[in-house]
Amino acid sequence: MSHDCLFCKIARHEIPAKVVHEDDEFIAFHDINPAAPVHLLLIPKRHIASLADIAPQDGEWLARMLRLVPRLAFENGANPLPEGGFRLVANAGIEGGQEVDHLHFHILGGARPWNKRAAPAA
Ligand code: AMP
Ligand code: ZN
Repeated sequence: MSHDCLFCKIARHEIPAKVVHEDDEFIAFHDINPAAPVHLLLIPKRHIASLADIAPQDGEWLARMLRLVPRLAFENGANPLPEGGFRLVANAGIEGGQEVDHLHFHILGGARPWNKRAAPAA
């Protein structure tokens, strides 16, 4: 089925994006309004509205999508564990803060204001 949502258009290269990964199933690109030093969006190319629409038969591609997360985070600037790391966020629905109705993972990394475990500045 063909969809006209924003992320379907990015997946079809009809709207430009700063793409960091692309394969047959997924595409990842920089968030246009980054909330962290590293802020990527990872989406399936196939339109699916949100995690609330995942069916039992989606387990295998969802696992492949999840396995991309650490790789993309660390390849694109997230600092190594254990001092570094990344945050994975998936918003669903209006009260979940979802603005684009095409499943996407926010991959966030880099130094963060919430990092209470960071060494104090000299
Ligand atoms: P959400 O609120 O979870 O639906 O997240 C949507 C995200 O898409 C937001 O963080 C936006 O900054 C981002 N976004 C919107 N339009 C674009 C675009 N054209 N290219 C890259 N990111 C976008
Ligand atoms: Zn879509």
